[in-house]
Amino acid sequence: MSMSVQPAPATAPSRKAAADRFGVIARPPLEWNAEIERETAHLYERVAHHIPKIEWPVYAPYVAAINRLKKERNAAILAHNYQTPEIFHCVADIVGDSLQLAKEATKVDADIIVQCGVHFMAETSKLLNPEKTVLIPDMKAGCSLSESITGADVRLLRERYPGVPVVTYVNTSAEVKAETDICCTSSNAVQVVESFGVDTVLCIPDEYLAKNVAAQTDVKILTWKGHCEVHERFTAEELQAYRDADPEIEIIAHPECPVEVVEMADYTGSTAGMINYVRDQRPPKVLLVTECSMASNIQSQVPEVDFVKPCNLCPHMKRITLPKILDALCEMKEEVTVDPAIAARARRAVERMVNLKN
Ligand code: SF4
Repeated sequence: MSMSVQPAPATAPSRKAAADRFGVIARPPLEWNAEIERETAHLYERVAHHIPKIEWPVYAPYVAAINRLKKERNAAILAHNYQTPEIFHCVADIVGDSLQLAKEATKVDADIIVQCGVHFMAETSKLLNPEKTVLIPDMKAGCSLSESITGADVRLLRERYPGVPVVTYVNTSAEVKAETDICCTSSNAVQVVESFGVDTVLCIPDEYLAKNVAAQTDVKILTWKGHCEVHERFTAEELQAYRDADPEIEIIAHPECPVEVVEMADYTGSTAGMINYVRDQRPPKVLLVTECSMASNIQSQVPEVDFVKPCNLCPHMKRITLPKILDALCEMKEEVTVDPAIAARARRAVERMVNLKN
């Protein structure tokens, strides 16, 4: 199934409102000088493996300006594991997968959240932090998986499968979450599916995640034809070629990959699970079968691990850049809002998952 990613989610931005509430600040001058060099030296250490020293004067003025403005605005920057290293290591306050980010954001004492990730993640942050102002530096940062399904589609599924519980992956819009019984992540999907104690469950919208869950449970799984355009590109043949070249290599895959790819993996888990696996096991050589930036982001924590990067980039994640983050903080754009009636139902689906007993 091919899906085009449309910008324009159901939640309209209210740029004027946020700018009115907090005021607009002029973009500060962006110069490379001795002060900026001193101020950012400790941050450069974190990305030295990735950014050549000669290029740091291009990044550092943005990093310094964002970090100053963050304090002035009492803002927190949330960065997904797929963000580029200069965002992940140099300006983010909280890093993690989408749910970790939203949950951690409830604990920070900040008025403003700048979501460095894609739109459904910003919506999830807003759902769990309704009193905070949530900004996304590029409103067009979408997701092929999230945009594969609408709330109307879920209502049709319910008509077709009356009484069958609907489990929704967190990689969906608030509108879709609102139509479903409970959310799941790639790490808890089996537990969530089995929590109903019934024979059949709808697990949407990721076809591959659903099939990977079906392989681990006796519950019959019905699904949807949504795919992550990054993870669906990996093939078993490609992985076999890496393994043939080096039989010792450990393959770690995300469950949004096709089943035959996951079957070849030594470990399968969410981005947070993959990171923990590498940190704990310290495999000498590892192939991370996921978005390319993740290996770059954890490389500095495990310098002894040799990462092989098949390098599939998410074009939506890469819409977020340092200049756009700076503009978001200066101009208070783009604000992510969720219709209160939708938000209440969507929040319930997320909280049911969060409150599920282990
Ligand atoms: S990596 Fe895949 S699931 Fe994640 S935002 Fe990009 S398209 Fe969506």
